[in-house]
Amino acid sequence: MSYQNYSLKQLQQIDASHHLHPFTDHKELREAGSRIITHANGPYIYDSEGKELLDGMAGLWCVNVGYGRDELAEAAYRQMKELPYYNSFFKCSTPTPVLLSKRLAEIAPKGIGQVFYGSSGSEANDTALRLVRHYWALEGKPEKNRIISRKNAYHGSTIAGTSLGGMEAMHKQLGGAVPNIVHVMMPYAYELALPGESDHEFGLRAAKAVEDAILEAGADRVAAFIGEPIMGAGGVKIPPLSYWPEVERICRKYGVLLMLDEVITGYGRTGEWFGAQSFGVKPDTITTAKALTSGYQPLSALLVGDRIARVLVEKGGEFHHGYTYSGHPVACAVDLANIDIIEKEGLVERVKSDTGPYFAQALRERIAGHPLVGEVRSFGLMGAIEVVKDKATKERFAPSGSAAVTVRDHAIANGLMMRATGDTMILSPPLIWTRDIIDMACDRIVKALDLAAADLRH
Ligand code: PMP
Repeated sequence: MSYQNYSLKQLQQIDASHHLHPFTDHKELREAGSRIITHANGPYIYDSEGKELLDGMAGLWCVNVGYGRDELAEAAYRQMKELPYYNSFFKCSTPTPVLLSKRLAEIAPKGIGQVFYGSSGSEANDTALRLVRHYWALEGKPEKNRIISRKNAYHGSTIAGTSLGGMEAMHKQLGGAVPNIVHVMMPYAYELALPGESDHEFGLRAAKAVEDAILEAGADRVAAFIGEPIMGAGGVKIPPLSYWPEVERICRKYGVLLMLDEVITGYGRTGEWFGAQSFGVKPDTITTAKALTSGYQPLSALLVGDRIARVLVEKGGEFHHGYTYSGHPVACAVDLANIDIIEKEGLVERVKSDTGPYFAQALRERIAGHPLVGEVRSFGLMGAIEVVKDKATKERFAPSGSAAVTVRDHAIANGLMMRATGDTMILSPPLIWTRDIIDMACDRIVKALDLAAADLRH
């Protein structure tokens, strides 16, 4: 059945009648109708009206190698013909997750050599939470089960993901979070640094909040700390360089495991394979998904450090956890082809030494000076623009979040798909963006800011 037999209006009507979307006000959606994206190529997406948009979000932080990659479609096709599915329960395996696990162990930070698969970042964090608690139980310390996370963190939308995350609106609808998870301050200098406090000092103070939480609970009750190297959905909040090494030192001092959620930062976005390498820390678990397959297949991989893996093997006993699609052969085949592309085209190195620095410079030189912009920041190919009413006082427009939505709507109307979270505009483009495309994106952002400034003045 081809969608081409339907008009946009018909598709929107059917969508409104039958399709409940994620993170959506369904009343608003029915009134507005959805934007229907029909196809995509390279860095561009196209809607059902034929409008071309530069995709500043790589889908949803995931299509790192861009759209239209024949190698990935062919890898899926070949694998589907040969073996579309078999499980990895009951001491079975299939070839592609076996080979992928070896490949991931080769690119992961040293000391991380085991992989547990799922189909989404949320599932992988569920696995991570259960695994660290299982680890301490095997070590004879079942009461060491508390997890420290951060306010405004995003770790997924399942009950475990929401509980680990620090999004207030999500917690309000949860009706009871997974117990023993606490949230400390985020390392967000723009709003939380004290007057006169340097970035370095602020990073250490934000890390100290982790130590305070460990001391308050007692180290023998704290299993792990979890954090995104750079908070993504919370607004691309980039910690000062002093933050992560200090968090790691604190975790080691008190015997607390360090869990990184690299669902966004993994596979090249920061200019290294993993944010752990960019910030110089050695975690015990790394949650990954999204760009693992560049979004061409749903797949997540929880990378597990040797310390945990060794205890699982030495102590034995079943870990009562897993998914039908753990190690899905087609998703793993696509992932192997995706990693080939990233390597062959040198995309990680390109972000580090070329496009990442160019992106930072372009934001600084072309966007930061705009009257609506309080701050720009970026790391690799992840960027944020703070929208303010007053640059000097950092006062925001009311109601909260409305100005960024105005900028976003103008950006989309002018051919750039980007996202607004709260009062922050965010960008997370495919790693195939070139300097020319970065220039084109900046042209569109400046135009969107100018148009939004005119609207907001009225
Ligand atoms: N962790 C982080 C850091 C994320 O950004 C996301 C998704 N945006 C998730 C977990 C959840 O991933 P998924 O939507 O695939 O469940």
